[in-house]
Amino acid sequence: MLCTTLVIRMNTVYAHRETLHRMVSALLSQASLAVDVSEARPGMTPTSRSNINRHSGSPRLDPMVNPGHPRIAVIGAGISGLAAARHLHDRGYRVEVFEKARGLGGRATTRRADHLYFNQGAPYFSARDPAFRRPVAAWLRQGVLHRLNLPAVQLENGAQTSTNKWFVARPGMSALARHIAAGIAVHTGVQVASPQRRIDHWRLSDMTGRSLGRFDLLIIAVPAPQARRLLELAAPALAARAGEVSYVPTWTVLLAADHGAAQPDLPPRPDTGPVDRVIKNRQPGQRGVSWVLHANADWSAAHPQVPAAQVADELATHFCNATDLAPAALSYLCAHHWRYARVTVPLTTGALWDPDLQLGLCGDWCCGGDIEGAWLSGRTLAAKVLE
Ligand SMILES: Cc1cc2nc3c(=O)[nH]c(=O)nc-3n(C[C@H](O)[C@H](O)[C@H](O)COP(=O)(O)OP(=O)(O)OC[C@H]3O[C@@H](n4cnc5c(N)ncnc54)[C@H](O)[C@@H]3O)c2cc1C
Repeated sequence: MLCTTLVIRMNTVYAHRETLHRMVSALLSQASLAVDVSEARPGMTPTSRSNINRHSGSPRLDPMVNPGHPRIAVIGAGISGLAAARHLHDRGYRVEVFEKARGLGGRATTRRADHLYFNQGAPYFSARDPAFRRPVAAWLRQGVLHRLNLPAVQLENGAQTSTNKWFVARPGMSALARHIAAGIAVHTGVQVASPQRRIDHWRLSDMTGRSLGRFDLLIIAVPAPQARRLLELAAPALAARAGEVSYVPTWTVLLAADHGAAQPDLPPRPDTGPVDRVIKNRQPGQRGVSWVLHANADWSAAHPQVPAAQVADELATHFCNATDLAPAALSYLCAHHWRYARVTVPLTTGALWDPDLQLGLCGDWCCGGDIEGAWLSGRTLAAKVLE
């Protein structure tokens, strides 16, 4: 089967865009090609266009984008934004996702360094709701997810967790986000500024004032405090709902030992100081082991401004003491501070949707506070949009 994506840019013929779209779509439909006629917008330079990741690798062909459907912008390429984008894209909606980071996944992201994969945020997740278990079963069949078992083990609050009810994406959690985003236009490295509501559409621009285009419908899929700031002027009522939600921070430390060094075992006792989670990850065929340490919420909150290198040293010292690993054997060490790591008390609304403003909000903070909740929230919002 022919599986090609043809990208047609019509910089100078925008006025006839939809007519041309229909003609080209009709010509190509028998060959099952996916056509992108996304508007080449003023201010979107060839360089900025090259930031568009049209994620490929989906086992299915994309349906034809329906030019009669509303044009939708999604801010945030975490699991919630991508779940909403996937659902709407698959129903023919013209969806574009804007993400300020260089990669996808948000708090379910992976850093690759020293030939190793480190899950910098969520290391794994569970699936309890049948609505989430269905895609999880499909992702397991497709090889995107694996059940978490030895040798990937972890220590939580001093006790080894039972791991067989958890899932992890391989080689890292970002692989799940990339899989969900397959075939969807995602602009990475674009931080969206406060959106502006016009009479019948939304205008988006980035932090430098560069226009990102106009959209019929806007989905905001970022942590609640960031959503509140984005919407303070355009939608104060929804901003106030987002303002009800609070978070705890987490420092994470990523470390690895020299390949030649004896690799430590999981600390036998919880003598890990402020570290309340230790995750060991060895990929099949991977030389070496990656470790991720999570500092507990109290310690993370008490050390917000400490330089990352200092945090990395301090937590690594606890880890080395608990495992008898010689600090000199560390081959990789860095720390990352998640200011909005975990929601303390999520809303129970699933998602927030204002049909008058054509504005929706989703995220783990609307549902559950974890990856499962983020996915369910994105899907709940997409269903409200389709109602
Ligand atoms: C250290 C840590 C450990 C965790 N452990 C677990 C666990 O074990 N199990 C579990 O299920 N969950 C865990 N979680 C929680 C889980 O990661 C989140 O619940 C989930 O990933 C949230 O997804 P989301 O789409 O709601 O938000 P996010 O993942 O935060 O996505 C929001 C995205 O919006 C982007 N963004 C923000 N503002 C803008 C802007 N102005 N313009 C463009 N883009 C913007 C951000 O860069 C981000 O990519 C953990 C989280 C952390 C940090």
